[in-house]
Amino acid sequence: MKVPTSSAARRLARLRASLAECELHGLLVSHAASVRYLTGFSGSNGGLLVDPDRAIFVTDGRYELQAEQELPDDVDFELLVLRDGLIAGLAERAAEEFAGRRVGFEGQRVAYGDWERLCGEAGAVEWAAVAGVVEQLRAEKDDHELALIGKAAEIAAAALRETAPRVEPGLREVDVAAELDYRIRRLGAEGVAFETIVASGARTALPHAGTSARKLRDGDLVLIDFGARWHGYCSDMTRTFVVGEPDARQQEVYELVRAAQRAACAALRAGVSGSEVDAAAREVFAAQGVEDRFPHSSGHGLGLEVHEAPRLSRHSNEVLRPGMVVTVEPGLYFPGWGGVRIEDDLAVTKDGAGALVDLERDRLRALPS
Ligand code: ZN
Ligand code: ZN
Repeated sequence: MKVPTSSAARRLARLRASLAECELHGLLVSHAASVRYLTGFSGSNGGLLVDPDRAIFVTDGRYELQAEQELPDDVDFELLVLRDGLIAGLAERAAEEFAGRRVGFEGQRVAYGDWERLCGEAGAVEWAAVAGVVEQLRAEKDDHELALIGKAAEIAAAALRETAPRVEPGLREVDVAAELDYRIRRLGAEGVAFETIVASGARTALPHAGTSARKLRDGDLVLIDFGARWHGYCSDMTRTFVVGEPDARQQEVYELVRAAQRAACAALRAGVSGSEVDAAAREVFAAQGVEDRFPHSSGHGLGLEVHEAPRLSRHSNEVLRPGMVVTVEPGLYFPGWGGVRIEDDLAVTKDGAGALVDLERDRLRALPS
């Protein structure tokens, strides 16, 4: 899908304004998600050199036709198709165009070998490592992007609704993941946004469990962390279930996690920092003396990547802005017993935040036993 023409031009204009602020003459963009954001190109090997007047897009022969189809019509991208390595070609081009000028590159995204090549072949350029320039633009979603992420969330929610009644004792975690992944695709997604996590029983105490061949048993907690990808955009949600009837402790832990999630969602609005939202969830756990059972952050930005700016963590001073999309995902994990996490995707507005999709979260739901 092409980036709508007005957005492509607007994104490039915003990037050029950021470059001026950073006192950069140009920027080399090589991170695939950022390249896609600026150009609409969805292939795996593309790069971009941007200066105040030009935008040079480079790719290899496999993607020539795709680039012609995907690059927007209203931005005059110069298309450069390379037969050899992308970085070598970019370096050669940069040496011609930007000798003696200060040009940024994504310091956290460029491999050391590529960096050496840039210095070797375009040493006359004054390279400056920058971080987060395109990522900060990407963090604020426009209406088109909000609709795409919303659709990714809707597909994932529908797939879970179809899968849940089919989950029963005797199935392996991998069977449940396969069923859910299949339905995500059948509902039209390009695929899953990341490898689906299904953990059961005491394995739910592993916040990022790998899905295993363990068979579900009556009374198990079952934690499912899943997402769909729609036109490149990701959703990322978690639901925790119980096989059969929940016991008192399962109910109690679930309600506490839900209370923490409610508190974080209530704190979420433009103008507050990521750490303030995180603290809102953490305080609910601290009041019950279980804050040490919450070992990860409260959430993260969501878009072309599953994890992107802003972070909702203890040390995040990023200030939330309208249009940001974040997950809110507190959890509690007790080794030997199990864990509960509830994760939703929310869009930040001027005076609050709203969940992108309505998927039952208020009570611990029973799976067929
Ligand atoms: Zn998740
Ligand atoms: Zn997440």
